Amino acid sequence: MIEHRHLLLSPTPGTTRELLSLHYGPTDTGRKVMIQASLHADEVPGLLVAHHLRRRLAELEAQGALQSEVVLVPFANPVGLSQWVLASHEGRFDLASGENFNRLYADLAPRAAELLEPRVRSGAPVGVVEARAALRQACAELKVTTELQSLRRTLLGLAIDADVVLDLHCDNEAVLHLYTLPALWPEVEPLARLMGSRAVLVADVSGDEPFDEACSAVWQRLGAALTERAGKPVEFPAACVGVTVELRGERDVTHEFAKADADALLQYLAWRGVITGPPPQLPELACEPTPLAGSIPVLAPHGGVLVHAQPLGSTVRRGDLLAEIVDPLGGGVTRLESPTDGVLYARESRRFVPAGTRVYKVAGREPVRSGKLLSD
Ligand SMILES: [Zn+2]
Repeated sequence: MIEHRHLLLSPTPGTTRELLSLHYGPTDTGRKVMIQASLHADEVPGLLVAHHLRRRLAELEAQGALQSEVVLVPFANPVGLSQWVLASHEGRFDLASGENFNRLYADLAPRAAELLEPRVRSGAPVGVVEARAALRQACAELKVTTELQSLRRTLLGLAIDADVVLDLHCDNEAVLHLYTLPALWPEVEPLARLMGSRAVLVADVSGDEPFDEACSAVWQRLGAALTERAGKPVEFPAACVGVTVELRGERDVTHEFAKADADALLQYLAWRGVITGPPPQLPELACEPTPLAGSIPVLAPHGGVLVHAQPLGSTVRRGDLLAEIVDPLGGGVTRLESPTDGVLYARESRRFVPAGTRVYKVAGREPVRSGKLLSD
């Protein structure tokens, strides 16, 4: 294992943070897997999964069982790690800018297309290897002026040439679910089976460039940008399987979950041929993918005490009671009903909520939303 410590841009004299990445397996195969935990720094389940993964990866490496490089970033957000405000951990938004740590990753396709254009025009072959070199260069050239931007560039630099990028997150309270591109479903389906995923939300463009999409959607964009520049058709395969893995809810932090999740992730790598050995038995699929545009957030119309009426993971029908909001002053009770048929896959963890809170998310089959599809 090779350990790299990446210094981030220092925001003020006397303060410097670093990002740790652990590199297992051979680095000369042209294949790479990147797994990172807790980009949203207060989402803890991934940290414990990474703890189990690093032990297992060290064993597999010692056995010579790794067929490609596996990069593990056991804590992807040293900036968010330090954000304690009035005894609460704020790990989702950067306090300096208000920006979400999992948004605004650079689209490297335009610059990479510019770099590749002369090759295409000269008739030289341009495949995934050449494209990855251009993407690495485009990432290295990104100008950064803040610590957060330097964190984003560092993470993207570790992931942009990977075949598989698994970004470990969690929701407030949730069943295990995944986000990915629709076109990647055939390659993500075994992961969904192995992890027992109860919902898979797919979108070509979720909005605001989350990390997994910056790594996966860049391939289709690069083909389009290069086609336009060079005036002849250039296409790339979907060379990166990017998935955001939502490891249930923020309090679902147990060794039982974490060991099982680490095991499932490694079995997925075995299925992909990254780890030697017989391919794993794939369990039954627990859900079909549904459009992220069909995942409907249910908002609290006023503040009050939140009383849940359905267990997580329930299959609900349009009009079913999901929760009540009790107004402690007026005495009124507002019913929150499901806006669609679907799976209730995530819900608010607080029990007193202000107006406008996203109380539930129900994964429906029909796309009904457009624009920015993710939560803030
Ligand atoms: Zn998250």
